[in-house]
Amino acid sequence: PSARAGAAIDRLTRVAPDFPVPGVLFRDLTPVLADADSLRLIGVALAVGFGPFDVVAGLESRGFLLGTAVAMAAGTGVLAIRKPGKLPGDILSEEFDLEYGTATLELNPSDVADGARVLVVDDVLATGGTAAAACRLLRRAGAAPIGVSVAIELGALGGRAQLGDVPIRALRLY
Ligand code: AMP
Repeated sequence: PSARAGAAIDRLTRVAPDFPVPGVLFRDLTPVLADADSLRLIGVALAVGFGPFDVVAGLESRGFLLGTAVAMAAGTGVLAIRKPGKLPGDILSEEFDLEYGTATLELNPSDVADGARVLVVDDVLATGGTAAAACRLLRRAGAAPIGVSVAIELGALGGRAQLGDVPIRALRLY
């Protein structure tokens, strides 16, 4: 399934120059997710190649769509790691750097069991700041990020270096 999922990403991803700001080549996976066969293939392909895990963490927003597909394929539940201000209760926050400015992700630690093995899922690994913040949140909540699984890795941005020894798999490397 990984090779076929990669081919679907090549065929259906919408590549948008200078979006959302000049100089960014934006890779929009929405046409891939809208295709039934591709969604199913990608869900399976993102779930394999890691050690065992108990739950998937999807990163807002596109990681929610993919994370649910992965969880359904793997037979696990899915956690929401969210943008600020969306989760009620006693939540954990992690700030991280973007190219211009900062961003924040949040997690409710009550959503994840102590010691849970968690597979982090997102659409694109770029600088790695988003995925690294998600891993920090999971560790603070007492969970173990066992891998980061993404549809697309943008190799030139060096995201792998942010993630220490957490294994990373990407279905496509550009
Ligand atoms: P980063 O924290 O730099 O690894 O950025 C990853 C996040 O930003 C992901 O959640 C992506 O959805 C989004 N992203 C960054 N660069 C791109 C790009 N060129 N195309 C599509 N999404 C991107």
